[in-house]
Amino acid sequence: MTLIRYEGKTFEVGAEESLLDSLNAQGASIPSSCRSGLCQTCLMQARSGTPPESSQEGLLDALRLEHYFLACICYPTEDLEVSLPGALRTVIAASVIRLERLSETIRLVALKPEVPMTFRAGQFIHLFHETGISRNYSIAGIPSDDEIHLHVKRQPGGKVSGWIHESLEVNQRVSLSGPSGFSFYVPGQFEQPLLLIGTGTGLAPLFGVLRDALSQGHKGPIKLFHGSRSSEGLYLVPELKALADHYSHFEYRACVSGEESPHPYERGRAHALAFQELSDLKGWRVFLSGHPGMVKEAQMTAFLAGASLRDIRVDAFTFSQVASDER
Ligand SMILES: Cc1cc2nc3c(=O)[nH]c(=O)nc-3n(C[C@H](O)[C@H](O)[C@H](O)COP(=O)(O)OP(=O)(O)OC[C@H]3O[C@@H](n4cnc5c(N)ncnc54)[C@H](O)[C@@H]3O)c2cc1C
Repeated sequence: MTLIRYEGKTFEVGAEESLLDSLNAQGASIPSSCRSGLCQTCLMQARSGTPPESSQEGLLDALRLEHYFLACICYPTEDLEVSLPGALRTVIAASVIRLERLSETIRLVALKPEVPMTFRAGQFIHLFHETGISRNYSIAGIPSDDEIHLHVKRQPGGKVSGWIHESLEVNQRVSLSGPSGFSFYVPGQFEQPLLLIGTGTGLAPLFGVLRDALSQGHKGPIKLFHGSRSSEGLYLVPELKALADHYSHFEYRACVSGEESPHPYERGRAHALAFQELSDLKGWRVFLSGHPGMVKEAQMTAFLAGASLRDIRVDAFTFSQVASDER
């Protein structure tokens, strides 16, 4: 049993319980999503005491050194005083300035925050529904856009995505917090090859990462594999083709995995096609986003193909009804 201080209260945490489950069960409200150490929504910081190394898996060195950890995989071995990172607690207002249809089921939402929001391309925000529940959405742009772009897929029966598709209107005010996430382009090593693999709206953060890398003058080859089960699930195809025509070191591959009828795209799953072509990823920087199963499988394959774990950035679009409605 360890004692955890959080927001002025003391909580007892048993050896078999994660810090996230224990604090939430005792009435604290810690944001979370995947509950398996992937999405990093439950990022916390130890203000005193040292979190177990295993709770820092996948975090950047800078964050480990600052004693950040993931509450969902934290089984404390000593007493700690913990807090949420400041950004997660700040809720800001934003106006919807544009809504566009990117495909049958995907909507672009352009937001203008009422106070400046600093973010890196590839991070995500927490968007609040009017009832107070929130969902994570990746930022599909770069800071110089001066607005926040989201690509939201409508999920059947989805509370927040349904509201975004059916009710959200231009000029409406919404609340958001963030940004969160560490799957972003870090300038430097401009010759390093980049591999970007995304499924569905997993394209959103990759579109930001791609534009960021190009605008910062990345020189190494950049390959983007975007996959969907059906050709209807692919979007921004003309925009990505135009970028590939303009930048000779950028290659765009649109992949469809589950359609028999004729279509102009490559046949197969995006990550399978990528790894079939690139069997040696030593020295590559890899960005994976979208379907959690694909992200997990591709993370392992990229590592086995030689990419260093430090160079693999993951953004799994996990969802958990209970966890996400807790907020
Ligand atoms: C880090 C991160 C980034 C994300 N970025 C994006 C993004 O850029 N664009 C985007 O559209 N979504 C993104 N998501 C997913 C998003 O947060 C929501 O989970 C999604 O919009 C569904 O919320 P909802 O309230 O509409 O559905 P809910 O009311 O929570 O669920 C309705 C039904 O749909 C199912 N469901 C929910 N989400 C999914 C899913 N992703 N796939 C399959 N079934 C699902 C549920 O199990 C349930 O049966 C991201 C998730 C994470 C963790």
